[in-house]
Amino acid sequence: MKRKPLSPNAKCPCGTGRKYKSCCFGKGFHFLVDEDGNISRDVPLHPEVEKLLPEIEKEFAQRHGRPMGPGDRIFDGIDVEDVTRKMVDAMRATGVAPAYIYAYEKTGLLLTEDNRHLMQTKDVEEFEAAMDEYDAEHGDDLDP
Ligand SMILES: [Zn+2]
Repeated sequence: MKRKPLSPNAKCPCGTGRKYKSCCFGKGFHFLVDEDGNISRDVPLHPEVEKLLPEIEKEFAQRHGRPMGPGDRIFDGIDVEDVTRKMVDAMRATGVAPAYIYAYEKTGLLLTEDNRHLMQTKDVEEFEAAMDEYDAEHGDDLDP
């Protein structure tokens, strides 16, 4: 099916309620729309996930008894809770700020300066809101 770029004046698909041109337009990915009005992104995978892909495919085959096909969702291949737990342990061990870890656990996202432009505005805002929430509850531990 043919896909064309989403109009900059359309409502942004990420869900902020803003216009595409003043939201996710110009980031490192594009929103495309097909003839039926279905919207998709042209960057299907997060770069970090792409790195893990061979492992995910192996686990998928083990869990489902067949190789992963194009219609399968990536997260059907992994135990998301298990991955989250391992990530949190690794972050604690390396001294990552607790507010950041909290935001990761809450949103399932990992916001960095490197991938910020690949994330939808709504996801970025959700992550930052979670960090603020943690700081509001626990105070800013960094100040003496
Ligand atoms: Zn957006």
